[in-house]
Amino acid sequence: MIIITQPHATEAQIERIVARVREFGLDVQISRGASRVIICVIGSAELAKEKPLAAMPGVEAVIPVLKPYKLAAYEFRGGASSIPIGNVKVGRTEHVALISGPCSVESQEQILSIAQTVKKAGATILRGGAFKPRTSPYSFQGLGEDGLRFLAHAREETGMPVITEIMDPRDLPTIEKYADCLQIGARNMQNFSLLKEVGRSRLPVLLKRGFSATLNDLIMSAEYILKEGNMNVLLCERGIRTFENAARYTLDLNAVPILKSRTHLPVVVDPTHGIGLREFVPQMALAAVAAGADALMIEVHDTPEIAKSDGEQALTPDIFEELIPRLRAVAQAVGRSL
Ligand code: PEP
Ligand code: MN
Repeated sequence: MIIITQPHATEAQIERIVARVREFGLDVQISRGASRVIICVIGSAELAKEKPLAAMPGVEAVIPVLKPYKLAAYEFRGGASSIPIGNVKVGRTEHVALISGPCSVESQEQILSIAQTVKKAGATILRGGAFKPRTSPYSFQGLGEDGLRFLAHAREETGMPVITEIMDPRDLPTIEKYADCLQIGARNMQNFSLLKEVGRSRLPVLLKRGFSATLNDLIMSAEYILKEGNMNVLLCERGIRTFENAARYTLDLNAVPILKSRTHLPVVVDPTHGIGLREFVPQMALAAVAAGADALMIEVHDTPEIAKSDGEQALTPDIFEELIPRLRAVAQAVGRSL
């Protein structure tokens, strides 16, 4: 249930409304707009529904939310969220953000050189994994804290904020020392203890869709993070498993308009993992911008043939540079910039 206050309702009126809701044993999250306050009632609102909350001074409307998620719902914000990642804002603004970098951080030189390349081409946020979720325990697992240090060094040199994956809640304090945004990978989308832990972090969280998860599952996972108080969540479509096996995954671009209509959260598309084949990543990146993505996440490697992970899908610097003006043209065609 969402309670919308009248324009310029007084603080005392708002406090009385909140106190009344709490009397029913329910909790609230408050979102303040320019003139109205939106009070989101968390928990089963059955009890409160029976009471005439709508008649309380300062209340303009009481709207039942029938969806299983509340804090992620578009109605909760009554508009789209814009989320700061370091000095870059990502959201449904005119600008489409470009997140780029290698799959894994491999050395100080490697991450710095790729950071400089992608920045020059137009990227504004640097990505790179230091803790890698690999199918095989014998594959490269990431450089751990050294990788984080190299990422932070690349940020100092380039000014780009950095995003990196967290797999284990015990790593949070360490990652928080270095990163500007946490990534929850597809394989951990329903790791609920991890979701709760990052929900208590001050850092924004990019939540990737599990490859067998529905859009509703994805939003419910975001709800776990939001419920802990961290309102800075970005949703990321990165491809799902279908019966089609011509590509690594099937990039589900339906996700973009659907997530944007159901939630207020920014929607990021990762065409790299989505198709998994270098030669087709550019087409899917262009399609993602056309579909309304608020940001793209694209893997780039300067020597993909010796990359420690995901070399077959990384764009080379040349292909990446050549793609940027085409992305800009598509962004412009749909009323945005990049
Ligand atoms: C990645 O971003 O490198 C990654 C492992 O992504 P996903 O969790 O989507 O597979
Ligand atoms: Mn990868």
